[in-house]
Amino acid sequence: MAQHQPVLLANVNRPDSEKIATYLRYGGYDALRKALKMPPETIIAEVKASGLRGRGGAGFPTGVKWDFMPKDAPVKYLAVNTDEGEPGTFKDRLIVERDPHSILEGVIISAYAIGAHRAFVYIRGEFFLGVKRWIKAISDAYQHGFLGRDILGSGFDLDVSVHRGAGAYICGEETAMLESLEGKRGVPRAKPPYPAQKGMWNKPTLVQNVETLANIPHIILRGAKWHSDIGTEKSKGLKIFCVSGHVNRPGNYELPLGTRLKEIIYEHAGGVRMGRGIKAIIPGGASTPIISAEMVSTPMAFETLQAAGTALGTGAVIVMDETTDMVEVVRRITRFFVHESCGNCLPCRVGGKRMLEHLEKLAAGTGSKQDIEDLEYLAGGIRGRTFCPMGTGMVEPVLSALRLFRDEFVKRV
Ligand code: SF4
Repeated sequence: MAQHQPVLLANVNRPDSEKIATYLRYGGYDALRKALKMPPETIIAEVKASGLRGRGGAGFPTGVKWDFMPKDAPVKYLAVNTDEGEPGTFKDRLIVERDPHSILEGVIISAYAIGAHRAFVYIRGEFFLGVKRWIKAISDAYQHGFLGRDILGSGFDLDVSVHRGAGAYICGEETAMLESLEGKRGVPRAKPPYPAQKGMWNKPTLVQNVETLANIPHIILRGAKWHSDIGTEKSKGLKIFCVSGHVNRPGNYELPLGTRLKEIIYEHAGGVRMGRGIKAIIPGGASTPIISAEMVSTPMAFETLQAAGTALGTGAVIVMDETTDMVEVVRRITRFFVHESCGNCLPCRVGGKRMLEHLEKLAAGTGSKQDIEDLEYLAGGIRGRTFCPMGTGMVEPVLSALRLFRDEFVKRV
């Protein structure tokens, strides 16, 4: 097994890892001290050169996103997306609960780089412990002079507050999150304009995921080259892979991007339960296309998974062994997305419900061949035709399962 020193998860298993004293003991906030002596444009250039791409699912280059923020806007915001809700994903929760200062340090450096003096943490309402940990970390950071006025004598000011979500999956989508932060119902906005142009209260807003922000202090301390030397051509750095399903050791594994799926499953996650074979894998969370066992050698990187017809998404690997009922898998995933549809656009709101009706008939053994055809027709019609990416995410598991495991659907007729 390849050995890797954890970086993003280096603190999480230390006693009292969430406390500021522990974080400081292991070099915490050293990156902030260094960053505050650097010109903001040098930090942006460093993050660009590191090749860091967003870890929330879309994989957009982080430094480029920072550069989009208008330099001359008098008011700018930073919004931290802690609304981790993609089924199979549980990495941000671990960092928030066990090492919140690593994210907060990334928040302060990022805000300094883009010239924002106000940051908002949006956190999934169900993360009760995470909310407590965020609030305590922010309060301790104020007391130590890492937040507030004239941070560490640099002249830079930043205030951070926490906002709890109310349990809607769609609020993980950046513009729905901004609506919710403004106190409105969480529905996506049309893009463009992008949040970097018009975000919260129409002001330029940088939205970043927790894992992305946790990378920033390491890039500042170790340099862009350290980061860009890890990974593949188009996928740089370390990634936390959340492994769940039929594996012996489910959990979070921090590995270089480009690590092969089979190494993650068999070497780190302890292989498949009871020594069984793999039938299918969801490589990047429930909204990414399912792949078959033949793809187990695929490197886990943005470009390789795209070439394999799926996506890295959030890096949530769900492993299904050979006994898995694929009709039931797709029915459950679809039921989740139908429940979580915000109802804003018709293909997702109504199409999802109709798809679920066909799947429920097929799963119950009361369906016909026409149900399979109608299901495929509906899913194909929804794909790429919804207001936000959730509609397409909803049909990817359906279409990929019909392509790979059609015989299982036919057998249920
Ligand atoms: Fe809402 Fe449409 Fe997005 Fe579905 S696809 S979540 S209905 S905006």
